[in-house]
Amino acid sequence: MKKHNFSAGPCILPQQVLLKASEAVQDFNGSGLSLIEISHRSKDFVEVMEKARSLALELLGLEGKGYHALYLQGGASMEFIRVAYNLLETKAGYLNTGTWANNAIKEAKLFGEVIEVASSKAENYNHIPKIYGVPNDLDYLHVTSNNTIFGTQMKTFPKVNIPLVCDMSSDIFSRQLDFSQFDLIYAGAQKNMGPAGTELVVIKEDILGKVSRKIPSILDYQVHIAKDSMFNTPAVFPVYTSMLTLEWLKNIGGISAIEEINNKKAQLLYSEIDLNPVFKGFANVEDRSIMNATFNLTDEKLKDTFDAMWKEAGISGINGHRSVGGYRASMYNALPLESVGVLVDVMSEMERRA
Ligand SMILES: *Cc1c(COP(=O)(O)O)cnc(C)c1O
Repeated sequence: MKKHNFSAGPCILPQQVLLKASEAVQDFNGSGLSLIEISHRSKDFVEVMEKARSLALELLGLEGKGYHALYLQGGASMEFIRVAYNLLETKAGYLNTGTWANNAIKEAKLFGEVIEVASSKAENYNHIPKIYGVPNDLDYLHVTSNNTIFGTQMKTFPKVNIPLVCDMSSDIFSRQLDFSQFDLIYAGAQKNMGPAGTELVVIKEDILGKVSRKIPSILDYQVHIAKDSMFNTPAVFPVYTSMLTLEWLKNIGGISAIEEINNKKAQLLYSEIDLNPVFKGFANVEDRSIMNATFNLTDEKLKDTFDAMWKEAGISGINGHRSVGGYRASMYNALPLESVGVLVDVMSEMERRA
């Protein structure tokens, strides 16, 4: 039986995407060859890469606006480094909203001065801190739109006149935003758009070429742009599967359609968390993520009973991250509303038994 997959990442993917991806591994487009045993320079794969790149820009509403979409390797963690390597000349600003933001800061410090424009670290990152002014002399400002581990999400973004860089790993393609407010967006594929092994980088070309250091080719965004995201062998299977997921998203109506469903899922779960005395939410209500809901039991003694109940119901992947404890239900795009319904039923059954 297929599980109700609430995994924080790698994540649930649409069933039809898994089916098509597995078919392509056997026989790609009826060619008699597997997707993963053909040249990445072959016409068939070049088409996949071009489609994956153009779909990303199309869905984000960034076509014809000076942006390029790249599928690179090394994960979002590699982009922590590539961003600083390409953009940090003297001083950059970072919003410290969690573990991943913190990791990005750590890498950037290897390249220059880093200013934390605000931080919620002292409260174990249970909210998005207010930013009171961003200096104008920064090379860029880096933010994390959704904090996967703590379950907080930025609802608005600072208006700045320096490049705005966003780690969107765990909520890209989940909600409608004016994506043109960002100059560089990156996201590891495995949270909301595909398997692990590639990350999407969407970048406005005019912010590049301004640092004085020499940049190794593989770390240089300008090289990847010039080579149409084919500087070296791309992660063919993750790119193909990401392309299938973006096609699926486009076919069901794009970001605005999925956002409606995502809001319903989040509403259903958070209202149970708030009404059910057995549970309490972790993140501040106004900063709650529609992707990752973090919550705890009010009485830890109920843990064994609750764990047995959700496992029995076919639920998988809701154990919380060690830095928060409790539970985390990740409700990425491909998770059906029904799965959230099953979790909520188990939670209310827990209340009856407690
Ligand atoms: C998972 C995650 C990362 C790290 O991604 P990798 O691809 O494993 O390097 C970075 N940022 C955010 C917000 C994440 O959720």
